[in-house]
Amino acid sequence: MRIAVVGAGYVGLVSAACLAEIGHDVILVDADVNRIADLNRGEVPIHERLLSELLQRHRCQRLTFSSSVSAAVVQSEAVFITVGTPQADGGEPDLSYVESVAAEIASAISEPKLVVEKSTVPVCTCESIRKVLLLHGAELSHVSVASNPEFLREGTAVTDFLYPDRIVMGVDDDFSAAMLYSIYRPLTQGTYYQQEGAIPCPLGQSATIQTIVTNARSAELIKHASNAFLAMKISYINVVANIAETVGADIDQVCAGIGADPRIGPEFLKAGIGYGGSCFPKDVSAFHSVAEQCGIDFSLLAEVTRINTQQRLNFVKKVRNALWTLRGKRIGALGLAFKGGTDDIRESPAIAIIQDLLKEGASVCAYDPAAMLKAREVFPAGSIQYADNEYEAATRRDALLVLTDWRQFGVLDLLKLRAVMKLPIVIDGRNLFNPSQMAAAGFLYYSVGRALQITETMPSLWHGIHFGPPAARMAATGWPDNRRGLHKELVST
Ligand code: NAD
Repeated sequence: MRIAVVGAGYVGLVSAACLAEIGHDVILVDADVNRIADLNRGEVPIHERLLSELLQRHRCQRLTFSSSVSAAVVQSEAVFITVGTPQADGGEPDLSYVESVAAEIASAISEPKLVVEKSTVPVCTCESIRKVLLLHGAELSHVSVASNPEFLREGTAVTDFLYPDRIVMGVDDDFSAAMLYSIYRPLTQGTYYQQEGAIPCPLGQSATIQTIVTNARSAELIKHASNAFLAMKISYINVVANIAETVGADIDQVCAGIGADPRIGPEFLKAGIGYGGSCFPKDVSAFHSVAEQCGIDFSLLAEVTRINTQQRLNFVKKVRNALWTLRGKRIGALGLAFKGGTDDIRESPAIAIIQDLLKEGASVCAYDPAAMLKAREVFPAGSIQYADNEYEAATRRDALLVLTDWRQFGVLDLLKLRAVMKLPIVIDGRNLFNPSQMAAAGFLYYSVGRALQITETMPSLWHGIHFGPPAARMAATGWPDNRRGLHKELVST
């Protein structure tokens, strides 16, 4: 099929490359002419595993780039809208990019075409798109609008697209349904997976896809409700982690116990510094706005957001408890992206935490395998230092913070790390390390929802080294477990 994808961001780029990969002829459009020029030159504007391989494979063949929506629409049977829907000041999403694309599409429709809303939007947006298309001159018989929400995760976006757990088709007419079935047939019937050179299925993932056909409103609601639920799961486990930390329980063990229940499942039960990124924060807020507009009290979602913000502030407090004052302290930071595997720093808790530390007078040297270029837009030269690797970020530092869950951070050489640091303090917002191993390597290791381990081999001065009020000390020392002698390796302070 001939397909136009409008919006060459994280979703548009991946969708266009994957639609070409499964056999379609795709024109990817963006209003940013520089981005289109970069793509035409073979440059890949975002860090996403397997994306450059796919772009290289299909560029100038099944995949072309354009800055003209109307030219792309004229040549296509289906048009996917993948522009941004950022949060507006009042919490609701700004749908002006979607509206302006719909108006441009209308001017180029002279035969029946399917318009597919893939951006994350509030329920009833398909209807608004339909109205804009008609208002801008498209004929009623030519206009079919469907919702096809995208569930890819940055970092694994390509395989998420090619091996999705479900494809949701929100359709209000037979033409939309038939078109979407045709587009996804290589995946739903599995022919793509037998193709030579197909991207292999990731370990532990299945090539069995559930196709869920709904009306457009239900599909729109599915996406918002899914993201809000996942965000809620993260906030929930972060509060449980704070309790675990205070009473000396271990959040990893607690999560293993909770996640073993198939009604709950182990995914997204990961304590840390809260969620970020371009989706969860804005989608929780947008869904809350939808509920308010319907006159329905969904203050649970406001609480999810509040807990998430508080979790980041708790982490900064933890840094203070470990270092006392922050003015003049030299801090290393591992991670800038909102999660591992991406260069996306939108709403990244790592960025917000570094901003808080800078405000309190600390200096920061950061390292991120992919996000440093984007971070320079927030922290220009001179505001923070950028290191070439993890060890350089830690060198002569009073403390090292782990802010993003890049896998490579969790396998650092601990003895080498200990040797380069001024003080052996690691404060891990992502629970990447094993507390016993960190203690054995000589670190004062603070994490989330797990007690600090002080071993007998550590200098006696370290017993009771924490700053801050008694509650913070209790949490940081693992009280009351060590008082009860439950963990033999812990020495009571
Ligand atoms: P993005 O900001 O990375 O990309 C949006 C692109 O649209 C930009 O390149 C911008 O230049 C382009 N654009 C804006 N107006 C345009 C116009 N009139 N014509 C042509 N191009 C235009 O956004 P994203 O992260 O790809 O997200 C897109 C949508 O998908 C959002 O609604 C988001 O919530 C949703 N989504 C995102 C993810 C994710 O992980 N990023 C996952 C699922 C769904």
